[in-house]
Amino acid sequence: MLYDCHSHTEFSSDSQMKAADALATARQQGIGLIFTEHYDFDYKESKHYKDMDFLFDAKAYWEQYEPLRGSDLLLGVEVGLTPGSIGANQEFIGEVPFDQVIGSIHAIDQLDIYYPDYYEGKNKEEAYGQYLAVMADMVQANPYIDVLGHIDYISRYAPYEDKEIGYRQFHDQVDLVLKNVLDTGIIMELNTRRLDSKAVAESLLMLYARYKELGGQYVTIGSDAHKVEAIGMNFKMAQDLVEFVGLRPVYFKERHLQYV
Ligand SMILES: [Zn+2]
Ligand SMILES: [Zn+2]
Repeated sequence: MLYDCHSHTEFSSDSQMKAADALATARQQGIGLIFTEHYDFDYKESKHYKDMDFLFDAKAYWEQYEPLRGSDLLLGVEVGLTPGSIGANQEFIGEVPFDQVIGSIHAIDQLDIYYPDYYEGKNKEEAYGQYLAVMADMVQANPYIDVLGHIDYISRYAPYEDKEIGYRQFHDQVDLVLKNVLDTGIIMELNTRRLDSKAVAESLLMLYARYKELGGQYVTIGSDAHKVEAIGMNFKMAQDLVEFVGLRPVYFKERHLQYV
C-alpha cells in the first residue's frame, strides 16, 4: 500500500487536523498514512515563537494514537535538525517506539526559513548555498534519522523570483547533501506540497535523478499535510516522477524500511 509518509495532526503546534478526519480521508484515497508531528527543539529561542513552541509530549501522543495504529496508520515524528538539538532529538526518539523519523531543516542560525529575516542581506546564491551546506552537515551529524524531509523546503518561502534549487547552479552543494544521505543510509523524501506545476516537477526531477545516479534507490512520498485537503496531494505527479527516475517508493514501520 502506498503511504502518505508526512502529515501533521493537532499534536503539531501549527496543525488542527484531527487524527480521525485524516485517517478517513486517507482511507477514501486508498492510501496509508504516517503522522509525523513537529519536534523542533531549538525553536523556542526564536523571536517569532516567544509564545509558541514546536514540541509535543511523545508519551501522550503514543497513548492517544496507538489504538489507531495499524495496517493503514503508522506513528512517526519530524525532528528539526540544528546543531543544538542532536542530543535532545535522540533522547526524544527513544521515548516511544516511533515507526518513522523524518529529519528536516526548518531553521538556520536560529532563523526560521519561513520568515523574511533569514533572507535579509542575502542573494539567492548565499541563502540557498548556506541552506544546502547546513543540510549536508546536519545529515552527517544526525545519521539516526530515517528520512531527510523536503529538500526543497526553502523554495516554499524564499523571496526570489526563481525559487527552485537549480541543480546546475547548486550542483556541488546538492551533491554533498546526497552523498551524505547515501553514506549515512538515510532515504530521501519527495515532498509533494509544491508538485503542482511543471517547473517545480522539472527542477525536482533533476535533483532526484542525481540521487539515483549517485546510488539512491528508495524514496518516501509525503504531502506534509496540515489539513485534510492536503492528504495525498499531487501523489499522481509524484508517482510518475519517481517511476520515471527509477526510484522505489518505501515507508518505515518500527524504524525498518518497507516496500510499497
Ligand atoms: Zn518540515
Ligand atoms: Zn512537516
